[in-house]
Amino acid sequence: MVITLEPNAPTAVVDAVCALAARHAGISPRVHQFSGTQHALTEVHLIGKNTHLVPTSVFEGMAGVRRVVRVSTRYRLIGRHGLDAATAGFEYNGVTFGDDHLNIFAGLCAVDTPEHVEQMVSALEQHGLNTARMGAYKPRTSPYDFQGLGSSCLPWLFETCGRHGIKVVAMEITDVRNIDEIRQALEDTGQATGVMLQIGTRNAQNFELLKGAGQQATFPVLFKRGMGISLEESLNACEYVASEGNPNIVFCLRGVKSHLGEPHRNLVDFAHVPVVRRLTRLPVCIDPSHSVGKMALAPDGLPDIYHACAQGLISGASNVLVDFHPQPTLALCDGPQALTLAQLPGFLASMRCVRQAYLTLTQAAV
Ligand code: PEP
Ligand code: MN
Repeated sequence: MVITLEPNAPTAVVDAVCALAARHAGISPRVHQFSGTQHALTEVHLIGKNTHLVPTSVFEGMAGVRRVVRVSTRYRLIGRHGLDAATAGFEYNGVTFGDDHLNIFAGLCAVDTPEHVEQMVSALEQHGLNTARMGAYKPRTSPYDFQGLGSSCLPWLFETCGRHGIKVVAMEITDVRNIDEIRQALEDTGQATGVMLQIGTRNAQNFELLKGAGQQATFPVLFKRGMGISLEESLNACEYVASEGNPNIVFCLRGVKSHLGEPHRNLVDFAHVPVVRRLTRLPVCIDPSHSVGKMALAPDGLPDIYHACAQGLISGASNVLVDFHPQPTLALCDGPQALTLAQLPGFLASMRCVRQAYLTLTQAAV
């Protein structure tokens, strides 16, 4: 059972709810705070075998209680638990994540040279973006492929991003030790920018990594759906992060592994955007680059990547992770799916137009 209190509820209300819950044998209350973009929200979760024996009416009549919901899903923290519940959303380093804000994380799949990073982020700045994607730790299929520059590139990478007004860099981590390396490099560069820790699809069920990302509250987490596991399993993976104490999670769809997706790299799964939004209160991201995986043009002249991205945005995604490279043929990872800097203004204009269409659709629906 989840008891949601009125926004900014005083501690006296929290204590009263907990005291009442504790009077039921075998039930222990657990308090969770969510710092949303509008207000702080407190929930009291009842834990125990026999929560079904506790009547909701006990709490429903209490002053300061907004709603009481019986929870059947195992992802109780990230779960929405009813369509009328709010998407929590959060703010990090001046960037807002939530239903009302579109964030586009464009950039290099793998950081290679300072020149390419400079060209990339100055283009982002020029086009009004303050979010980027930059891979330093790369999990690769073959041990002989480029594994990323690792921690050695972080100081100059963060300095360059900061100099061009980038506030949040989405960066994959493959080991919990990477979190400390990132923290240290940010400290050494005077917090030049911020980082959203990306958990890649290959690590979607690396529970120690998930717990490590959850046990710190500095960095938000961008979780990428497991490519070969059920949606339910991916949602439970996010619950690991939240249950360790970090509720600031963005859920990213990136296609699933199936030959049925051919000739695309993965089967594009953006029809699940509304599903994830209905089941969870997490802001949703889409990655059209790793879904489509190639630079093919449709007869209308638009790359398949644009079409896939538009499908995700018209379905309500509010974040985009997309590969760009100043010279895709020189990229050390995933060059064939990288958009060029010449495509950046057209891509942004198209995606902002689709986002506007989505907002118009939702306004017309109410
Ligand atoms: C990436 O975004 O760089 C990446 C490796 O993605 P995924 O984990 O979705 O394959
Ligand atoms: Mn990649």
